[in-house]
Amino acid sequence: MEPAGSRAMEERRELLDRITAFIVKHDLAVTSANMAAVCGAMSGANGQLSEAFAKREIAGEPIDQRWLDTISRLDPGTNDRMSELEKLMDRLEYSLMRFTQTAKSAQDETSDGREALGAQINAIADATKSIEDDAVGGVDMADVIELSRAMLARIEQVETAMERSQAETQELRSNLAKARIEADVDHLTKLPNRRAFERRFASAATEARDKGEPLSVAFCDVDHFKSVNDTHGHDAGDRILVAIASTLNEIANDECFVSRHGGEEFVLLFYGLDKDAAWRKLDVVRRVMARKMLMNRETGKPFGRITFSGGIAEVTEDADSRSALSRADAALYEAKSTGRNQIVVQ
Ligand code: GH3
Ligand code: MG
Ligand code: MG
Repeated sequence: MEPAGSRAMEERRELLDRITAFIVKHDLAVTSANMAAVCGAMSGANGQLSEAFAKREIAGEPIDQRWLDTISRLDPGTNDRMSELEKLMDRLEYSLMRFTQTAKSAQDETSDGREALGAQINAIADATKSIEDDAVGGVDMADVIELSRAMLARIEQVETAMERSQAETQELRSNLAKARIEADVDHLTKLPNRRAFERRFASAATEARDKGEPLSVAFCDVDHFKSVNDTHGHDAGDRILVAIASTLNEIANDECFVSRHGGEEFVLLFYGLDKDAAWRKLDVVRRVMARKMLMNRETGKPFGRITFSGGIAEVTEDADSRSALSRADAALYEAKSTGRNQIVVQ
């Protein structure tokens, strides 16, 4: 640990002060997503974000939750960071696969060699028995046989160690495969997460264009969710998110991919559906959700009606797939600003 009062510690304290002052000044909620964004921008760790913050401040435009949400929703930097991680995992998996192959062939060779050596030693030992004088050409055969047997025992030990190391590598490979699966799942709702969405989005867009089929995307955001947390507490808020996730997930199938984008936001992909067909599908879920009377099982108090708003855009309408995310975001904003509990098509 650095000594108190050291330069590095001063700098860290100063960065924390700046982050706090920024959050308070712009009246932002203290959420992990906000902290990560502000920290990325203030520390300079996320250059694009620093630039976006600076431009916004200079233009005198508000740095509010709406703007921060949009910027994080559309942040392509997340993709770059994710693909870096992906590359590292690929490399690790490749190294493990190569190691398993090398170890396997070395083990096969050692095993063949050991068997041949064992047979030779036994043959020499048998032949030596019939010789009166153990020393052949001045060499004591008993010594040679003993030495060879010691070597054989050592080879057997090495083989066992290699087998163990191979089993451990195999376990490591299967842990890595599990970690890959878990990395795509949101731990609270168990829906696919943003990382999984980004991958799906890229492949679905390419596939839709190749097939000449439509593809639509929808952002959904829970209405007035902050007040649910404020009134009932964060844990109750979490349970609401799980309930909304499972309602949305009811329409998940081969033509609909549902994921949690982060916080109280979900993002859906509609394969083969144009924006109006996607609207019809999503609006059914919106109505189902708005009809539910949810109860806080911890306190017995009703949550009241929990609704969400959505914005839809057709990815295949524009050559630039990512522009659909901005369009869906704009549609969501319109849904929010014109009353909430509705789905707007861009
Ligand atoms: P709007 O209708 O405009 O979307 O209002 P809102 O209150 O839903 O929006 P706002 O963005 O102001 O607040 C979102 C809140 O969601 C703030 C944050 O505390 C809460 N939130 C984000 N992620 C989680 C989570 O994982 N669990 C819980 N319980 N709350 C979360
Ligand atoms: Mg939101
Ligand atoms: Mg909200």
